[in-house]
Amino acid sequence: MQQIEENVIKSFRLAKNDIIRLQRDFLSLSQAEERIMELLDGLKASQADIFQRIREMEHGSKPIAAALKHSNARKGYVASKVGKSYHRKNCPFAHNIKNKTKVIFYTKSKAENLGLKACRCVA
Ligand SMILES: [Zn+2]
Repeated sequence: MQQIEENVIKSFRLAKNDIIRLQRDFLSLSQAEERIMELLDGLKASQADIFQRIREMEHGSKPIAAALKHSNARKGYVASKVGKSYHRKNCPFAHNIKNKTKVIFYTKSKAENLGLKACRCVA
């Protein structure tokens, strides 16, 4: 009789330990869940930040493109539709070309492909 009683007490103690362990596991699981939620929030925030940066970069590249275009235009060469040579934009001959007959080239080869000769100002 005493043996049975001891066994029952032992079983209850084991069961109680199991329950305590389960409660502990459950607690750490819900803590892990909370941590995951925090990480997800952080990810969402950094994703939004990345999108914001991409938008800024896209906007930022526009002035750069415009500046490049502008510098190309300044580097360009000009010729008269009725002339035989091409010039730098700051050449005195270039200033004499009337807007109506003026042609702009961004590269020397574009002008030379049309059979135009380089003025002394280009060399
Ligand atoms: Zn010239």
